[in-house]
Amino acid sequence: MRQLIIIGSGPAGFTAAIYAARANMSPVVFASSVEAGGELMNTTEVENFPGFPEGVMGPELMMKMEEQAAKFGAEIIRDDVTSVELSGPVKKVTLGSGETHEASAIIFATGSAYRKLGIPDEDRLSGYGVSWCATCDGFFFREKVIAVVGGGDSAMEEATFLTKFASKVYVIHRKDSLRASKIMQERAMANPKIEFLWNSAVTAISGESALTGVTLTDTVTGAVRDLALDGLFIAIGNDPRTHLVHGQLDLTESGTIAVDGRSSRTSTSGVFAAGDVIDPSYRQAITAAASGTVAALDAEHYLASLSVPSK
Ligand code: NDP
Repeated sequence: MRQLIIIGSGPAGFTAAIYAARANMSPVVFASSVEAGGELMNTTEVENFPGFPEGVMGPELMMKMEEQAAKFGAEIIRDDVTSVELSGPVKKVTLGSGETHEASAIIFATGSAYRKLGIPDEDRLSGYGVSWCATCDGFFFREKVIAVVGGGDSAMEEATFLTKFASKVYVIHRKDSLRASKIMQERAMANPKIEFLWNSAVTAISGESALTGVTLTDTVTGAVRDLALDGLFIAIGNDPRTHLVHGQLDLTESGTIAVDGRSSRTSTSGVFAAGDVIDPSYRQAITAAASGTVAALDAEHYLASLSVPSK
């Protein structure tokens, strides 16, 4: 049986692995079978991670974190966790391959998943004009007319990035003001290829074999109109990935795994959580990394307490 299992390979998971490996906990990290590295694998330049004054590409930052964790002895297994058993002193994890692993402690750093609009044809046209990843798919939209839905930092980042390819980028937002940070707003607003469509909700998506446009409903007047498009990028936030722990760990009202104060301790002894899966507010690479540190230190204290003979 292992000392520590870490599920997730974003900044929280890999930082927890670096700390845990350096503390001789011999952690194993279960990274995704599709792509290790978490959300930053889908981003472009990260300008606000301390220590990189020139900026660093998201995928490069994650590869370096993985390299650092492996250097100190963390084992990294590229497979998906399909189920967990958390009650009792031995935590059990089953992988997509059918293999099972056991450990005394476990850290959930499972991050969050892209939110969907929840309208018909969104899934059907996914990959055929509808996308959640500008970095992955932007290249396919050279000299095309596209739109980004959302008013947060992700939408501003995606829209700005997509102007490298597209001839025109609409930003469709359901309100008349943005949630994005000032600097990201200003950058998008100063870009001549970007046009904002305010108070607009995407209420339908059209296209047979590929997207041809969307229907917009004015959120103030209710007026409906069609907009011809070659591509639609959805950037409306994320939901914490908690499906593995439903019914086993307490969740908060916002759907994140509940932890005790500033610690990573969940409602079950020996189970810790870190990163976006516990964070409804900040959700930055640096805050996730810090959260991973907290989880590794909490797990270390927990494991040490197990080896102290009880009086
Ligand atoms: P946010 O939750 O910040 O923003 C989501 C946006 O999508 C909001 O404008 C919201 O509208 C809108 N929205 C949500 N649901 C729907 C829906 N069903 N239909 C239409 N619109 C919807 O998510 P982000 O992904 O933008 O950002 C998440 C976190 O990551 C933030 O903390 C952000 O700062 C950070 N981030 C930082 C970056 C950077 O600094 N480089 C880059 C990207 C993200 P409304 O405003 O009306 O609620």
